[in-house]
Amino acid sequence: MNYLKRTWCDIDLNNLKYNIQQLKSIVNKELFAVVKANAYGHGDEFISKTLQDCGINYFAVSNYNEAKNLRSFGIKGEILILGHTPTQYVEDMIKENISQTIYDMDYANDIKKYINDKKLKVHIKIDTGMCRIGFLHDEKNNALASVKQIINCDKFNVQGIFTHFSSADSFDNLDIQFTKKQMDRFDSLLDLIKKENIFIPIVHTQNSAGIINYNNNYRYTHARAGVIMYGLKPSDDIKETINVKPLLSIKTTIAMVKEIDKDYEICYGRTYKSKGKMKVATLTIGYADGYCRAFSNRAEVLVNGVRCKILGRVCMDQTVIDVSGIDVKIGDTAVIVGYDKGEHITVDELASFNDTINYEFVCGISCRVPRVYHLDQKIIGVVDDSVKYQ
Ligand SMILES: *Cc1c(COP(=O)(O)O)cnc(C)c1O
Repeated sequence: MNYLKRTWCDIDLNNLKYNIQQLKSIVNKELFAVVKANAYGHGDEFISKTLQDCGINYFAVSNYNEAKNLRSFGIKGEILILGHTPTQYVEDMIKENISQTIYDMDYANDIKKYINDKKLKVHIKIDTGMCRIGFLHDEKNNALASVKQIINCDKFNVQGIFTHFSSADSFDNLDIQFTKKQMDRFDSLLDLIKKENIFIPIVHTQNSAGIINYNNNYRYTHARAGVIMYGLKPSDDIKETINVKPLLSIKTTIAMVKEIDKDYEICYGRTYKSKGKMKVATLTIGYADGYCRAFSNRAEVLVNGVRCKILGRVCMDQTVIDVSGIDVKIGDTAVIVGYDKGEHITVDELASFNDTINYEFVCGISCRVPRVYHLDQKIIGVVDDSVKYQ
């Protein structure tokens, strides 16, 4: 399968299958696979199809277009939109069997005006402390009346109820207490609902960090696995109860190799000056690919299994590295993320140079970068959103 070997992502679908097995072995609940943001930059088509092959029946996305894309790929399971959908899409959601999160009474009242004879599937979102979207339920607010109103509305088919943790990825004492408080608040609402003889089949709270660090509440029927499914950890404060493998590596091509003397100043702003004779190589990757400018003069790249420092600024499409003493020529591959002869560069390592988290880096890999899918040692597909003439 052909693709432009400039900068590309290799996505290992066997590792996705492995991670799902691992997750299923520790979570005795159904999994919602969170495939929002183009499956955290990994590409939603092949990721969601592989998940479907693994028996995943529940998918979560951030918006209507993502949900519709999944249907166009042939995803048959339940699809839940976690965020706001403008009312104009309600009819299409019903047609495509897509579930919407109802998180506020004004929104519920708006949306129900657009529902005719067939009900909209919904999940009710409870705000137990994240303070983003959801009906507030805490020591000062009681969400029961709102839940009953949604349940009693003949336009909605209430499938589920859920909340979201803000700090499940931290071992800080106050954060642990806060997560427990969020669970207590949610559980107290579940008790009130039960007392009213209301049954809501799907109950979910845990994100990746919640799945690993707070895996003991059996009232929850489902859990929402995001970053961990892609083999990345939500943070360093994660119990060692699961072993997952990253799916993603990023490769780039060496465009030029040259020898320079002392006092050559490299790239925009001349932020690196050579201290003596050295060999440098120019890579075909830059910040337009998602390789952040903050990595300038800091991050490293693997060439022949050796760590090579970035020299000067990362440009839009090109980056210069130090390859002194390394046997390398035009057309060779350099590893930006992943393994090379025993050495390894992680997404977390790169994210740290930008004071950010692995989530943001993978979401930022641009559509200019082809995603190449590997299964059982074979390339089974390539998605290149930068090609407009297919
Ligand atoms: C993104 C998201 C998730 C997944 O979070 P991870 O930390 O990647 O597991 C779960 N629930 C909601 C509501 C989300 O927005």
